[in-house]
Amino acid sequence: MSLEKIQHEIVDAEKTYKRVPGSVRLIAVSKVQPNSRVEEVLEKGHLIFGENRVQEALNKWQDWKKTYKNIELHLLGPLQTNKVKKAFEIFDYIHSVDRDKLMRSLANEAQQIGFCPKLFLQVNTGLEPQKSGIAPENVANVLKLCINSYMLPVEGLMCIPPISEKPAKHFKLLKKISADNGLKNLSMGMSADFSIAIEYGATHVRVGSAIFGQRPK
Ligand SMILES: *Cc1c(COP(=O)(O)O)cnc(C)c1O
Repeated sequence: MSLEKIQHEIVDAEKTYKRVPGSVRLIAVSKVQPNSRVEEVLEKGHLIFGENRVQEALNKWQDWKKTYKNIELHLLGPLQTNKVKKAFEIFDYIHSVDRDKLMRSLANEAQQIGFCPKLFLQVNTGLEPQKSGIAPENVANVLKLCINSYMLPVEGLMCIPPISEKPAKHFKLLKKISADNGLKNLSMGMSADFSIAIEYGATHVRVGSAIFGQRPK
């Protein structure tokens, strides 16, 4: 378990790349990890976690959110509209907003309960057909729709670069789209490349296996 190691590497990257100290938030991605590993990280006082599935998050985090105050939970995986209601019960952030139907559903739920998790729009920077996310050229329009028509709280952009490519150009592209659209937050960088993501302006890095160890099969 190497929470401290990753925290140090983030501080180092902030220094190296002249980022404001403390401007990068570490999301510890706990999906599929054994509870004992997650509890170790909770006991060290870390409060920001990421999960990929709504039901898994509900099962694991309802009790932990009571035991450990001020947990901040991020949904990183795709969200089906029939899971939106449940997602609102447990998540503080959703990073995978990528289509009109989902935005409409988020807006409806937010209206009904008077609360909305903070949102990131997922961008398919590599235009991979099997991957979800908005095409870079459509981000401006989707963002307008999100903010003006649905009045949703969009905080920033998220991407998952193609595994077969160097991530830097994707991080750079996401940063440019974000700047062009006046957004402040960038969710990018995982275990293998979070330092590079910090170089290109990541504000939220999503690190799983480098903290908890390999996910069990
Ligand atoms: C699993 C996952 C991560 C963490 O991956 P690691 O390589 O274990 O750090 C980050 N982001 C998303 C969207 C994921 O699904």
